[in-house]
Amino acid sequence: MLNLTRQMIEIRSLLQEIDRSADTLKLPSIVVIGSQSSGKSSVLESIVGHEFLPKGSNMVTRRPIELTLVNTPNTAAETADFPALKMYNLTNFEQVQKILFDLNMAVPEIDAISNDPIQLTIRSPTIPDLSLVDLPGYIQVEAADQPPILKSKIRELCDKYLESPNIILAISAADVDLANSAALRASKIADPKGERTIGVITKLDLVDPKIARNILLNKKYPLKMGYVGVITKSPSKSLFKVKRGHDAFIAQQNFEYSYFKTNKSDFNQCNVSTKILKKKLIKVLEKTMSMSLTPTANLVQQELDETSYKFKVEFNDRHLTPKTYLAENVDALKLSIKEFNENFGRLELKSILRNELDQRVLDLLASRYWNKFSESPKDTKILIENLNDLNSLKIEDSFWAKKLELTTSSLTKLGVGRLSTSLITNAILSEVENIVDTTQLKNHPLLKEVVKEAAQNVLNTRYLSTADQVENCIKPYKYEVDVEDREWNVSRDHSIHLIKEELQQVNQSLQAMKNSIGGRKLNQVMQYLEDSGKITTEETLGFSSTLLSRGREALFLRDRITILNLRLKALKSNSCKVKDNKFKCPEVFLNVVNEKLTTTAVLFLNVELLTDFFYKFPRELDLKLNSNLTIEQIEKFAKEDPKIKRHIELQQRKELLELVLNKIDGILAFQRNKNITNNGN
Ligand code: GDP
Repeated sequence: MLNLTRQMIEIRSLLQEIDRSADTLKLPSIVVIGSQSSGKSSVLESIVGHEFLPKGSNMVTRRPIELTLVNTPNTAAETADFPALKMYNLTNFEQVQKILFDLNMAVPEIDAISNDPIQLTIRSPTIPDLSLVDLPGYIQVEAADQPPILKSKIRELCDKYLESPNIILAISAADVDLANSAALRASKIADPKGERTIGVITKLDLVDPKIARNILLNKKYPLKMGYVGVITKSPSKSLFKVKRGHDAFIAQQNFEYSYFKTNKSDFNQCNVSTKILKKKLIKVLEKTMSMSLTPTANLVQQELDETSYKFKVEFNDRHLTPKTYLAENVDALKLSIKEFNENFGRLELKSILRNELDQRVLDLLASRYWNKFSESPKDTKILIENLNDLNSLKIEDSFWAKKLELTTSSLTKLGVGRLSTSLITNAILSEVENIVDTTQLKNHPLLKEVVKEAAQNVLNTRYLSTADQVENCIKPYKYEVDVEDREWNVSRDHSIHLIKEELQQVNQSLQAMKNSIGGRKLNQVMQYLEDSGKITTEETLGFSSTLLSRGREALFLRDRITILNLRLKALKSNSCKVKDNKFKCPEVFLNVVNEKLTTTAVLFLNVELLTDFFYKFPRELDLKLNSNLTIEQIEKFAKEDPKIKRHIELQQRKELLELVLNKIDGILAFQRNKNITNNGN
């Protein structure tokens, strides 16, 4: 059978989800009011069958608790959810009590109450399908020492909940004169004809059954839906031990049952017991909700029209979910990666690697050939003095051959495999980061990190094998490098170009120094340093130690310029035009080696690293971004863009409204059918 109340309660929750603050879209609920100690908590707890409301002498409910009870006949588990906190399936009701306590206490005492309701859903096989609101603050209105502004705030909140078509459950204790019942007083204002109020009289065990009977058949404060009498606590002076949890409720039920059985005649024609109360609540709620369905459906339809219109005007009916938004971004990213792939091939690899190796060669030349102060001063001096005319060098070839062999070996053995693999890996990673910064993903650190990790993962799996492959392939050059005339010529041009560049840089550095210190002053320091030979003592002649060290730097640069000029001249001279003179033209020879190393390395880097990366990276992105992220993460990401947030929320609202309307229409159709069948019979 179709469980109408359940369905309507579900619709009610959906409406709440659509508009937490709006008063317009809602189905009625049962609002529970009662002054302190009237037994309000006991009634609610005996309906639920669990102690879950916060207690304490100075405990005041500061927020409305919107309690949704869902009957789950086929499960044994009793669970609680706080949907707004995204906490689900709590089984420990002491924890529920603690959370409710904390949520209430989070409202500052100075505000007294908050309009923001706490939503709590409890599922159990032993509870009825019901929707109840535990209203706070009712007692505070009664408490005289509240500032007027707070009083009106509390009253406003209560009035909102007590409005039609909500049902009012007015709780009064039997041992207090009904004339003094705060709950009845309030319900009379909101529901003067007594059409929507159910009176609950608690603590019937505390008064004489005859008096109790009179209260229940109340003529003085008549209510159309009447009164129900309950006993929601077994008396404390009972012989039973004080029980907690489920046992306490069984004890209460037993006590209530036997009490009303014993005094059966007195309660003739009266509605008594928690069981009757529950039944009444289910019936009344179902009826009231049913009556609200058509007006609510009309309102939902209006709201849907409005929302659909906005959605069309603002977003052209374009369907967008956090997931599709993310997918669009991932696609954009993949497209950029594809472009990167097309523009990043062997030529780019080569230029990155070549630049690095050229720099290494310049360093090697500087330390082994051009450094005036290192190595054997005598040899260097000879070399420097004869740099422009190598043929006149008088030292045997074997000296220069050895020197070149050592330098070449330093180059080929510097670990080209790892060096080149790292270089390219880093270049790819930094380009991926650049690309990410051109997409929407740039504003989302978490996703940026995910993309970076994905790239790193893919590259890491190939790093070692690529480095090994490259190293293996350049191995022959560690033993021998053959040079052809054509290679020699190309490298010679390249060397000249490199030396010119280096020269330009060193010149610029020296000029910068002159500009900052002053040309004359710098000359004086340099002159002084040269005159005093190798003295490196403290401040002398008024030059500060900083100035002296700058002077030394300038001297170094000046010497480097001299050497570079000499080498440039040598490279351009006829003696370096032929490869036979390679021992005396190390720049050219090392450049040939560089070219060979680069070409070989690039071949393997391209196949092993690059092709592999561009094949696997888009797949890794799909895995990491589309499959591995949680729905919450994706939604959070999408909503970081305010326009997207609005788009998604408007669409979600539209979809929810459609869903609600469908569900209401379903119930209304069911009811129409039932009426036709009933009338037919
Ligand atoms: P609230 O302040 O309105 O929520 O009231 P409580 O549910 O906390 O109850 C106030 C006091 O009345 C507690 O000490 C309960 O044990 C007691 N009480 C509640 N219902 C009954 C009842 O039916 N019979 C008796 N004897 N005591 C009750």
